[in-house]
Amino acid sequence: MKLHWKILIGMALGVIVGLLLNESFVVGGGVGELMRRLLQPILGPIGTIFITLLKMMIVPLIVASMVVGVARVGDIRKLGGLGGRTFVFYLVTTWASVLVGLLVVNLIRPGVGAPPLSGEVPDAVKTDVGFWGIIIGMIPDNPIAAMANMDILPVIVFSLFFGAILTTLGDRGLPLINVFESLNEVMMKMADVIIRFTPIGVFALLANVVAETGTSIFANLGKYMLTVILGLSVHALITLPLILKYIGRISPVRYVSKLTPALTTAFSTASSSATLPITIDCVESRAGVSSRVSSFVLPIGATINMDGTALYESVAAVFIAQVYGIELSWTQQMVVFLTATLAAVGAAGIPSAGLVTMAIVLNAVGLPLEGIGMILAVDRMLDMCRTTVNVWGDTVGCAVISRLEREDVPPQLRHAPSQKSS
Ligand code: ASP
Repeated sequence: MKLHWKILIGMALGVIVGLLLNESFVVGGGVGELMRRLLQPILGPIGTIFITLLKMMIVPLIVASMVVGVARVGDIRKLGGLGGRTFVFYLVTTWASVLVGLLVVNLIRPGVGAPPLSGEVPDAVKTDVGFWGIIIGMIPDNPIAAMANMDILPVIVFSLFFGAILTTLGDRGLPLINVFESLNEVMMKMADVIIRFTPIGVFALLANVVAETGTSIFANLGKYMLTVILGLSVHALITLPLILKYIGRISPVRYVSKLTPALTTAFSTASSSATLPITIDCVESRAGVSSRVSSFVLPIGATINMDGTALYESVAAVFIAQVYGIELSWTQQMVVFLTATLAAVGAAGIPSAGLVTMAIVLNAVGLPLEGIGMILAVDRMLDMCRTTVNVWGDTVGCAVISRLEREDVPPQLRHAPSQKSS
């Protein structure tokens, strides 16, 4: 059976088992209780093992793939071109997604008439880092410490700088480039092994989440959740596929089928960074996109390109304003538009990061931080959805940028033979 079928079955089983284990779901004859006793002690550790395996890969994979990526581009000027395209593509698609977010939340108005709910504001939210904080935080004062703490963005900045200088050394740089090439190959092979465990990992993670949250969260804030999910769907199912088809000349359906392991891992882990090893493996080995582009574009994407998070931040901010009865002017919505983009760039690729950087958006338009406490209860579910869109946005970016770099469409991604594909 193909891997993506195994994963989809794993997901479905995860949801079913999670529902059976959920306290509010009554299974007769004490069966539910028995299942809880037997399964819960196993499912938790299995999910944790899967996530830890992925996390184990992140730092060495990012360092190796960024250095190799930069070294393969070779010439610093060409790197500037690739970097520029990557930056512009990521920025434009993030803006497109925030626009969709603002559109749906203003049309549906999910917060109008909703009673303000109370909730704890997470401590992390109270320390607003601001614009300069984000910029300064990108530079590691100690690269080894940044690696040890898994501060991904500083690690990327260091690796980029390191790789760029390495290419200027000519022959003297070759031995080190070879070392990183081998390291990169080893990491990719390791990712190839881990990807086989995706069906089990996804199953265990989903069963745990569903067992903990159940379906009761939909009772409150249901309209808000639906608004976020509608916005995410428009971006993921309309905007990005159109870009893929018309700019990248790549079949969206074929591409998405190659990415099932990455997208489902993103959904079940709610972490773009943890998903990165699988994302790179899918894009390179399964979809056949050139590794020259993907090893540069994907680590950056997983860290700063978050279409789903940006959309979510704009919807959440306007929703909070609506609940508190505060009318946001067009200028204020423009501020939401810009700060939601910044907050998404600043969010790390880990669960709930977007919730924390929401403080930037709320502060900018003078909304109470308590609003974050209000939407906390439904955050995990929405995090899973927005992370999937984040990873989808990165991979679409990678495929389109590889085309803009004049790479051929990989045979497995071409449209039906009757159509011209390039
Ligand atoms: N969990 C998201 C990610 O890893 C970030 C967020 O919280 O929005 O992409």
